[in-house]
Amino acid sequence: MALIVQKYGGTSVGDLDRIRNVAERIARTRDQGNDVVVILSAMSGVTDQLISMAEKIHTPPDAREMDVLLATGEQTTVSLMAMTLQAMGYKARSMLGYQAEILTDNRYTKARILDIGAERIKSLLAEGQIVVVAGFQGMDASGDITTLGRGGSDTSAVAVAAGLKADRCEIYTDVDGIYTADPNICGKARKLSRISYDEMLEMASLGAKVLQIRSVEFAKKYDVPIHVRSSFNQEEGTMVVHEDANMEKVVVSGVTQSKNESRITLRKVPDQPGIASRILTPVAEAGISVDMIIQNTRLSNMTDLTFTVPKSDFDASMAVEKKVAEEIGAAEVLGDENIAKVSVIGVGMRSHSGVASKMFAALAAENINILMISTSEIRISCVIEEKYTELAVRALHTAFDLDSQ
Ligand code: ASP
Ligand code: MG
Repeated sequence: MALIVQKYGGTSVGDLDRIRNVAERIARTRDQGNDVVVILSAMSGVTDQLISMAEKIHTPPDAREMDVLLATGEQTTVSLMAMTLQAMGYKARSMLGYQAEILTDNRYTKARILDIGAERIKSLLAEGQIVVVAGFQGMDASGDITTLGRGGSDTSAVAVAAGLKADRCEIYTDVDGIYTADPNICGKARKLSRISYDEMLEMASLGAKVLQIRSVEFAKKYDVPIHVRSSFNQEEGTMVVHEDANMEKVVVSGVTQSKNESRITLRKVPDQPGIASRILTPVAEAGISVDMIIQNTRLSNMTDLTFTVPKSDFDASMAVEKKVAEEIGAAEVLGDENIAKVSVIGVGMRSHSGVASKMFAALAAENINILMISTSEIRISCVIEEKYTELAVRALHTAFDLDSQ
């Protein structure tokens, strides 16, 4: 007998039929003699609807009230699930975040979990109940409802699994697992049976939307292996686990792309101490995160500085830089929204050389121009023209021997 935490995402509980399907899966796990704690998301689309209603009243909506509102999405699904399980003859109880003692800080709409009490969950399990916990929500020290940021029920699941020292943490979603590339772009993409936390973190931050980043950080810190799998079939999915020696043998485990990029160039800025800070500090102060930065020396005392920001922050960043350009006497500000970032990721890069040159050669063979490059210990990213994104992903997938046979 094991203690199993299962999390189901919004599409898996999108209507009553799907809730019933999921209930049957939960019931089977229970019938095998396991203790089961279930974490649920809101029905698909509900959180978006709630946000858009709030924004019609007043933008930005008050963050505390926003969390009171958003928490209702998960309140709906956990109660319906408990009722469904009861109707099938099982003992089941729903719990909201505060009842499950999920204690967070008070940063409404993006709170972080500080502690999990788990005593009430344990006592319900001891009574033989299936415990159905609302994901995405918690409570701060003063008893107010908080939410954990979009996709936060993944983090709820990992945190509850850590708090209960569960034997397994299964995250059920609408995809079969983690793939070597987006299967919608690359027909030869393969499902990975295992991936390391660090690789998953890189993939999640680069646009693979399967797991909330914070849930992976949490899992790594508290040693919770995550099994990502589909709620629509019985297939094994992908295990997200600590790195091992076998993983190092594979140079690249995945290729990702992100079209959510744009770049801004300040031309002919004076090449002096403090200039990069004068250009980039106002962007940071506007709450915009800069990803890549390059600086080229052009003439003896002039330089060009280029950086990338998310597309959604492009207009705001351009406005900021036009002002900066005037203040510092830059020649002009150029903007480009038609770019994308393609990346190769793998812990094997730590012990293999020549990965970057192989990547550049693969892009060159397709006549794809590289506009910017950045690297980390286990990732190499290139900014390219957006229209070549799919071609680049497929070319890299082949070049790094990831294609399925
Ligand atoms: N319902 C929340 C969202 O849509 C949390 C989650 O689904 O993980 O972001
Ligand atoms: Mg999700």
